[in-house]
Amino acid sequence: MDALSAGAAHRRRGTGPAPVFLLDDRLPTTDGHRPIRIRPSAHAPYGFEEIGALEAYMDNYRGARTAVIVGAGVAGLTAATALAHDGWQVEIAEVGPLEATSTGGLCLTGPSLRALDELGLADACLAEGYGMSTITHVDVNGEPAGEVRLPRLIGARRPAMVGIARPVLHRILYTEAGRCGVVVRHGVTVAAVDQEGELVRVRLSDGTVRQVALLVGADGIRSSARDLLGLETSLDFHGQMVWRALVPRPLWATGIHQFAGKADTAGLVPLSARQAYVFLTENGVERSVLPDAELAPRLQQLLEAFPGRVEEIRSLVSVSEPVVRRPVLTAHLEGAWNRGNGVVIGDAAHAPAPQMASGAALAVEDGLVLARELGRHESVDAGLQAFVGRRTQRCRTLVETSVAIAGLEQAQRHHEAYRLVDSCHRLMAEPA
Ligand SMILES: Cc1cc2nc3c(=O)[nH]c(=O)nc-3n(C[C@H](O)[C@H](O)[C@H](O)COP(=O)(O)OP(=O)(O)OC[C@H]3O[C@@H](n4cnc5c(N)ncnc54)[C@H](O)[C@@H]3O)c2cc1C
Repeated sequence: MDALSAGAAHRRRGTGPAPVFLLDDRLPTTDGHRPIRIRPSAHAPYGFEEIGALEAYMDNYRGARTAVIVGAGVAGLTAATALAHDGWQVEIAEVGPLEATSTGGLCLTGPSLRALDELGLADACLAEGYGMSTITHVDVNGEPAGEVRLPRLIGARRPAMVGIARPVLHRILYTEAGRCGVVVRHGVTVAAVDQEGELVRVRLSDGTVRQVALLVGADGIRSSARDLLGLETSLDFHGQMVWRALVPRPLWATGIHQFAGKADTAGLVPLSARQAYVFLTENGVERSVLPDAELAPRLQQLLEAFPGRVEEIRSLVSVSEPVVRRPVLTAHLEGAWNRGNGVVIGDAAHAPAPQMASGAALAVEDGLVLARELGRHESVDAGLQAFVGRRTQRCRTLVETSVAIAGLEQAQRHHEAYRLVDSCHRLMAEPA
């Protein structure tokens, strides 16, 4: 058994004596690397006690299944975990600090749960979030306007989707990635990328260099990795600003509720037994930034325009909770998603408007499908071609549909929007 498979076996067992291996005995070396003795450890990333050994390994083990991922968001962490499950050595460069956590919540629809289930993580999300299966539409008069029952993609006994706080989802994904030996470096980004034969040479902002088989840009809608790979896209603004605020969950909120207003659209998504988030999509506005102190009072004012249950939600928007207001931006790469052995995934490749609540679903699917296609093909290049071929149409359809729904909302054609939401969820239920 070589050092790496012995280390992996030791991690899987999680117990037993820790044997000592000479890394330099078994792996090719590059100039300037001193021989390093390493010792498997259940607590260390990769199962080795010295981080120096890991760095030498990443540099030395040329041509092996090594990857650098840019960004530890939904796409980056799921791709890292899926690749690590398949035996890849993965390092993530995340520009944010370790203690940074995203705020608010999101809805993981059926395709998200299906992909997370394949990674063994759906039940953790369901345990910590709020499982649900319906979207209830309410018209401008506060009257019911129909209910969409979403397909249960992980079995009839489990819900169709889950609302979950973003920090909770991040913790679940982060913990699993760490358990699989993925190393996350915080406070660094990618500074330069060069294709060198069948490897990618990646220089990080801390000055260190990696030569790896794969570079994955998972750094969101404003991706730097995308720019460094020379892949161009535009960000489109659709005349909508979207508001989000955390509120206590009203007892009647057991699914998503969406309220049509005379000008705007509002809604409520449960995140746990105790918590939900209220959203409001403001139509026909310019992109602008409001002072933080004005956000909660302004959101309450916009919610005044809605009758019925929104009255109750409005009173829950506390001035002490952070209220978030963002422009609705979308992006979709028109051409290739990859260049050489570098590829972009998640919002870096395709960012839908939030109306379908499915951006994270595409991001999770990307991570899983990327690992599966790389596992199926001899070369990284062939795996990436297959991955992009399999994902392009599905992701474009979702981005375009979300933009169409945003347009229907602005035109007050709510019933057409509901039908489109319903049919698009059914389309997305097809295998990824
Ligand atoms: C208001 C709103 C509501 C939404 N609601 C939902 C919902 O309910 N359901 C749903 O499925 N989707 C929803 N989405 C979409 C969803 O949030 C995104 O599609 C998803 O987060 C994309 O994941 P990602 O990992 O590609 O990007 P991100 O989540 O943006 O993660 C990117 C990561 O890369 C890091 N990073 C950025 N730049 C660099 C760099 N240069 N170097 C290193 N690291 C970098 C960031 O710090 C971050 O950790 C919503 C989006 C918005 C705006």
